[in-house]
Amino acid sequence: MKVCKFGGSSMASGETVKRVAEIIRSDEERKYIVVSAPGKRFKEDIKITDSLLNAYRESRKGTPLAGLLQPIFDRFVGIAADLGISDKVDLPAIFHEIEEGIAASPIPDYAAAQGERLSAMLLAAYLGYEFVDAREIVRFAEDGQFNAEYTNDIARKRLSANTSGVVIPGFYGSTSSGMIRTFSRGGSDVSGAIVARAIKADIYENWTDVNGFLTADPRIVDNPKPIPELSYRELRELSYMGANVLHPESIFPVRKANIPINIKNTFEPANPGTMILPGVLQHDRLITGIAGKKGFVSVLIEKSMMNNEIGFTRKLLSVLENLNMSFEHLPSGIDTMTLIIADTEIGGKMQDLVGGIREAVSPDRLEIQSDLALIATVGHGMAYKPGTASRLFTALSRVGVNIKMIDQGSSELNIIVAVSGEDYEKAINAIYEEFIN
Ligand code: ASP
Repeated sequence: MKVCKFGGSSMASGETVKRVAEIIRSDEERKYIVVSAPGKRFKEDIKITDSLLNAYRESRKGTPLAGLLQPIFDRFVGIAADLGISDKVDLPAIFHEIEEGIAASPIPDYAAAQGERLSAMLLAAYLGYEFVDAREIVRFAEDGQFNAEYTNDIARKRLSANTSGVVIPGFYGSTSSGMIRTFSRGGSDVSGAIVARAIKADIYENWTDVNGFLTADPRIVDNPKPIPELSYRELRELSYMGANVLHPESIFPVRKANIPINIKNTFEPANPGTMILPGVLQHDRLITGIAGKKGFVSVLIEKSMMNNEIGFTRKLLSVLENLNMSFEHLPSGIDTMTLIIADTEIGGKMQDLVGGIREAVSPDRLEIQSDLALIATVGHGMAYKPGTASRLFTALSRVGVNIKMIDQGSSELNIIVAVSGEDYEKAINAIYEEFIN
C-alpha cells in the first residue's frame, strides 16, 4: 500500500486537483491520501493557510470575520465548481461552522487547519474516497506537544478499517479534549509520514512541485544535479541545514518503520524524483549534497585554565537553558569555547546572554561576531576515505574564503564550516565545483 501526500501547489486549483486525482487513479496501491491546503497558483498568490492566519489575527483586532473569510471561501467554491462536485459537499454549512469556530478559538490553530480540512473534503468527494478528519487520528497533548505513540495506535485502528480509499487533511490533529492543534508550517509532510507508519505502507510518496532533492540550492548554484537516492540520515542533515523540500520532522515516523520516502513531482509524474532510504547507501558518490544557512552569531569565550575548571561547560550552558535558547555548535580549544547560535534564537536577548555568561563563568575575554553562515557538506561516501576535508578546505582557500569554524562529527557523515555571510554563495559554489560538478 502507498501513502501519498500532495502539497499546496498540487492542491492549488481545480485543474491541479484533477492532475492529483489522475495520479492517484493510475495506481491501485494509492489508497491513503494526505493533503495540504491550496497553495499558490502563481508567484504573487497567497496560500490559503496564510490567508486563514491573517483572518484570525485581523479579526482579533476588530475587523469583521465574515469579510476576511469571504475570499478564502470563494476559492473553495471555485475549486468545487471546477471539479463538478458543488452538489456533493455542503460548503455553505461548513463555512458557517468555520466562521463560528474561528470566532470562538483562543489560539490560531483551529483557523490555520481549515485549509487542509476543506482541501481533503473536496478531494475525497471528487475521488469517491472516505474523508477521515485528522482530529480523529493525530493526537496532541494539551500543551501542543505531538504524541507520536498514541497517535500511531489510534491512527492504525481507525485507518485499517478502510482499505478502499481515504483522504486525510495534513498539518493538524487535536488534543483529547477536542482542541485543534497544528504542527509547525509545512507540517502536512509530518502527517503523511504518520499515516505511512500507521498503515505500515510500503512507500511514502511525497508529491510536490519539484523533481526531488538537488545537490545544492538552485538559487545559488546554476542547474545543480538532482539527488536520485539519499539515506534518512543524509536527508536529516540536509533538510536541517536548509534544503527545504521536506519538513525536517517528517522523517521520524517513517524512519521508525523503515519506510522509504519518494519525493515526486505532480507536474512531471514520470520523473523518478528522489528516493530516501533507510540505512547507509552504497554508492560511489563521495558527497551527496551541500546545504547551508545564513544568520548565525559566534560568541567566543576565553579563560585561562578553562580546561581545569570542572563544570565550566555546564555553567555556560545553563545560561542558555535559563534563556530558553538553543545553540548549533560548541567547538572548543584548551582555554576557549565558542558558541554558534542562530540569530532567530538570540532575538532581543544578546545583552542577557552576555551578562549571563559573564556572571556564570567570568571569562577573560568574550567576543561576538555576527553575520556568519554555516555550510554542511553531507555524504556517507566520505566515511573512511582520507582527503575529503583537505579537498574541501583547499577548494575554499582557492576562492579566498576564510573558514571561521569547522565541525566534523565522528560519524563522518558531514563536515560543517562557518564562513562570513558575504562569502556564503562563493563558498557553496566552490564546494559544488570540487565534489559534484
Ligand atoms: N498548509 C500548511 C502550511 O502552509 C501546512 C502544509 O502545507 O504542509 O504551512
